[in-house]
Amino acid sequence: MATSNRRRQTGFDPQRLSMMRPVKAHPAGRSPSPPSLPHVDRFVDELRQGYATRGHPVHLRKIPSKSPSYADLGDPLPEPLWDALRRIGVDRLYTHQCAAIEAARAGRHPLVVTSTASGKSLTYLLPILEHLLADRSARALLLFPIKALEQDQLKTLQTLLPPGAGIEAAIVDGDTPASRREKLRANPPQLLLSNPDLLHLSLLPYHAQWRELWRNLRYVVLDELHTYRGVFGSHIAHVLRRLRRVAAAYGAQPQFIACSATISNPAGLSEQLTGHTFHVIDADGAPQQGKHFLLINPTGSAYTEATDLLLQCLRKGLKTIAFAKARKIAELIAMWARQTDPTLGGRLAAYRAGFRADERRAVEQGLFSEQLSGVVTTSALELGIDVGGLDACLLVGYPGSITSTWQRGGRVGRGRREALIILIALPDALDQYFFRHPDDFFGRPFEAAIVDPANRQILTAHLVAAASEVPLRTDDPFYAAEKDLIRALHDQGRLLLSADGTEWYARERNPQRRINIRSLGEACAILDQAGRAIGTIDGIRAVHECHPGAVYLHQGQQYEILNLDLVQHKVHVRPVSIDYYTTPLAEKDTEVLEIMESMEHQGIPYHLGRLKVTERVLGYERRRIFGQDKIGSYRLDLPPHTFETVGLWFEVPDGLKAMVEQTGSHFMGSIHAVEHAMISLFPLYALCDRSDIGGISYPIHPQVGRAAIFIYDGYPGGIGLTERGFQVLPELFLKTRQLLDECTCEAGCPSCVHSPKCGSGNKPLDKQGASLTLQGLLGETPWTDTRRPRPDHLVAAVSHPRKEDDADTTTAAPCAVVFDLETQRSADDVGGWDQRHRMGLAVGVVYDLDRAEFRVYTEPQVDALIRDLVRARLVVGFNLRRFDFDVLRAYADVDWNSLPTLDILECVYRRLGFRLKLDHLAQETLGERKSADGLQSLAWFKAGEIERVIEYCKQDVLLTKRLYDFGRQHGYLLYRDIQGRAVRLPVDFDENLFSRQSR
Ligand SMILES: [Zn+2]
Ligand SMILES: [Zn+2]
Repeated sequence: MATSNRRRQTGFDPQRLSMMRPVKAHPAGRSPSPPSLPHVDRFVDELRQGYATRGHPVHLRKIPSKSPSYADLGDPLPEPLWDALRRIGVDRLYTHQCAAIEAARAGRHPLVVTSTASGKSLTYLLPILEHLLADRSARALLLFPIKALEQDQLKTLQTLLPPGAGIEAAIVDGDTPASRREKLRANPPQLLLSNPDLLHLSLLPYHAQWRELWRNLRYVVLDELHTYRGVFGSHIAHVLRRLRRVAAAYGAQPQFIACSATISNPAGLSEQLTGHTFHVIDADGAPQQGKHFLLINPTGSAYTEATDLLLQCLRKGLKTIAFAKARKIAELIAMWARQTDPTLGGRLAAYRAGFRADERRAVEQGLFSEQLSGVVTTSALELGIDVGGLDACLLVGYPGSITSTWQRGGRVGRGRREALIILIALPDALDQYFFRHPDDFFGRPFEAAIVDPANRQILTAHLVAAASEVPLRTDDPFYAAEKDLIRALHDQGRLLLSADGTEWYARERNPQRRINIRSLGEACAILDQAGRAIGTIDGIRAVHECHPGAVYLHQGQQYEILNLDLVQHKVHVRPVSIDYYTTPLAEKDTEVLEIMESMEHQGIPYHLGRLKVTERVLGYERRRIFGQDKIGSYRLDLPPHTFETVGLWFEVPDGLKAMVEQTGSHFMGSIHAVEHAMISLFPLYALCDRSDIGGISYPIHPQVGRAAIFIYDGYPGGIGLTERGFQVLPELFLKTRQLLDECTCEAGCPSCVHSPKCGSGNKPLDKQGASLTLQGLLGETPWTDTRRPRPDHLVAAVSHPRKEDDADTTTAAPCAVVFDLETQRSADDVGGWDQRHRMGLAVGVVYDLDRAEFRVYTEPQVDALIRDLVRARLVVGFNLRRFDFDVLRAYADVDWNSLPTLDILECVYRRLGFRLKLDHLAQETLGERKSADGLQSLAWFKAGEIERVIEYCKQDVLLTKRLYDFGRQHGYLLYRDIQGRAVRLPVDFDENLFSRQSR
C-alpha cells in the first residue's frame, strides 16, 4: 500500500510526530534533519568505550523499534474528514485511534493512554469533528493543562477542519482581549480551546454570559490527564464537578474524551477527576523508533558530566534536549555550556516554568525552526508541546518517576534515525538505587497519579464557589455527601440559607478569585527593583526559597531576595553576581489531631491521620556553587508557618531503641536517617517529588509517648501521597533497608541518608543505626521489649520525662496518675460481680503523668498503692468507681468517692447512656487493642506468672493514658455506633474539672 511504501522510503510517519500542519506532508519542510549525521550507534559506542577506559560502569539498553498496527472503523469517517487527513499525510488509523473513535461513537468516555507522539490528538478530534459535521450546533470544550499546548493544538486542529464546513475553532484564555472574548461568548465556536484556570475563573462563574456554550456543550476533552494530580489535580476534580453541575443546569450532559501519558491508574484517576467511568484504551498502535538508553553514574560532578555530554551531542550535530530537576541547575548547565563553547552563542537556550510567556514562545519557536540546536529545561517541556524532532535526550538525574522518564525520553526520535537517551545519575538515593538495579529501572511499572478530592481546604473552597455559581439545593445531587460541611459553612456564615430553607447561597461574590487551582495558597509575583515582574513562585515554595537573603536564579541571572511579602504576595529582588547558593535552615514540630487508620507490622503499630505541622525558617546557609562548601550560616527572624495535613507515623518501641543504642549507634541520628531515606524512596510508589513530602523524627513524641517517625504531605490538607505510602509501609521499610545496605559509603552520603531539604543541615545522621532500626522494624533483627520490668526491680521507668526532673517522689507535689489493677480471683470465684471487694489485688499499676514513670504494686505493697492514690492530685482510669475502688475497699477504710477521679467510662456513660469497653474505645480512637483479656490475666496470676500480669496491667494503663491524652487534646474520643459508623464522642477532660484544687 502506498502509505507504507512511502514510509519505508522516508522513514517518516506524520502521525508519530503528532504534526498535522500542512507542511507535514513534506517531512523535510517541517523539521529538516541535517543530512550528514553520524550514526547514533557509533556515538554510543564511542561513549561506552570512553567510560570503559576510565573504569566507569555504564548500563546500556537497546529499545527496539516497533512497527505500527492499523485498524479500520466499522463505519468509515465522513469523506471531508478523510480528505483532511490525507492532506496531512494520514491514510490509515492506528488501532488505538480506531478504538477511541468507536468508544466515543458508542457514547462512552474514552481515555487513551499511549506513548508520547502516538497521534493522541486524533483520538478526540476525529469523533468530535464527525459529530460536528452532522450537528453544527454542538459545542466542544477542549482543556489543556498549560497555555502553550492550546496554541500548539489549535494549529494542529486548523489543518483538520474540513474547508467550507462551517466548523470553527478558537482559543479563549487569559491572553484573549476583552472585545474578542465578548464575541466568543455571544457566538462560541464549535471547538473552544481553553485551560482549567479560565474555566474556573470565567466560564463557570460567568456561565450566564456563556450560555450558548453551556446549552450546547456536547464534549469535554481533557488532554494530558496525568498532569491533573497532586494539589492541581485535586482542584481539577472539583472544577470538573462544578462544570458538570453548571452544564446540568443548562440541560447538558457532556461526554468526556481524555488522553494521558502512561500511569498505573488511568481508570481510577479519570473517575476521581470526573465522576464518570472511562473506557481505557492502552494498546498503542503507533510505531516506535529504536532507541539507545544509557545509564551513567559519574564519579565527579554529575552537572559537569551533563554539560560535557551536552556539548558532545551538540558537536555531533544531534539536536538535544537536557532535562534538569531544578530550575537552578537548568540555568547553570546552559550557562556553563555557553562559557565552555562560546561558539554556541544563541544556539543553546534554557527553558522553564516561571519564564514569561513570550520568553517561552521564543524558545519553542527557535527549536521548531532549527535556530536552536539544544535546550536545557526543567519539567516545563515535558508535555506534548511540539518543538520539532529531537535526537538526544539527557536526563540530568532520574526525573523522579518512571512515567516522566519515558515521557521525556519519548521526545526523541525523528525520521528513521535511532535516538539516544542518557540518564546521568545524581548522588541521590533514587538515582543510585536504579543504577544498582538497572533491571528494576527498565522493567519497573508506571506510578499512580494521586489526587485527593477530599482535601478539606480544597473541597470547602470549591463548594462555596459552586454555591455562588448555582445555589446549592438541600438535595443537590452533586454535593449530597457534603451535608455536614455545608452546615459548618452555614454556621461560619459563608453560606446563607434561603428564607424558605431550600437553598444555600454563597455570601461572597466571586469566591473563585481567591482559589488558586495551581497551588495551595496564592502565588507570589517576583519583582525587580524597577517593579518589573520577572516570574512567579507559589506561596509554599516562597517561604522556603524566597526568604530574605536567599539567592534565586532566573534565566542564568542570580537575584538576591530583598523582601518577601506574604500579605501582598510579592517578592522583591535585586540582580547579583555571586559564587554561592543558599539553603534554608528550619525547625518543625507536629501534633496528632486525629487518627484515621491504624495497622501493625511485626509488632510495630503505625497510623495514618491528620497532623498539625509547624515550620519555622530560622536562617539559611550559603554554600559555594562548586564543591558545595559551607561559607556561613545566617539567622532570620520569621514567623512560624502552621498547616494541617495528612501523614503517617510509626512508633519505635523502647526495646528496639535499646537494641540500637546497645551497638553504640546514635539513636536520634538513626531515626533521622531512616526518615530521610524513606522519604527519598517515596516517589517509587506515587507520582511526587521528595520535596512534596515532609518528615520529623522524635526520640520521644509527647503524644505517642515514645520514639516516633512522622512522614506527611507537605501541603495543607494533604494530597493523598502519604496515604498511599501508608498502604505499602512494610515494603517501603524493606526497600529503604536495602538502599542503606547497598550504598558503599561509610557514614551516610547524599545517595542514601542525606537530604537536600534537611532543615537541620543533615545533622545528626547515623547510617549504621538507621539500618539496624529498619532491621528491627522489619523483624529481621530481634529486640526485646524493655518495658517488661526486670524481676528484682518492680519500679521501672518506661520513658524519660521531657524535662529533667530530679524531684524526690516523697517530697514532690501531688501528681496526676493513671491507675488500673488486676485481681487474684474472678467474679465467678467469689460468687458474682457484687462481691468484687473479695476479688483481691494481684497487681496495681500507677503511671505518674508528671514524672512519666510507672509505679507497680503487688498485694504486699497495697498500703503504698493506696497512699499513692490518696495523695494524687488526680486519678485517671477506666471504670475506677464501679470496680477498682471497690476491690481496694477490702484493704483500707478510705472515702473513695471523694478522691479526685476522672473515670473515662463514667464520662462515656454520662454522654451516651450506655457503656463502651476500653478495647473498643482504644481501637476506634487510637487504633490499638488491649494486649490480652482479664481471664488470661487471672490464669497467669494463678500460674504464678506475676510478671505477665504486671506487663498486661501496664499495657492497659498505657492505653488508658493515651485515651486520656487524646481526649484532652481533641475534645472527643471515637467509637463505632450501632450502624457501624465511626463517630465522635465529645468529652471534656480538662484537669481542673476533676482534680483536687487545693490541699
Ligand atoms: Zn551512602
Ligand atoms: Zn532532616
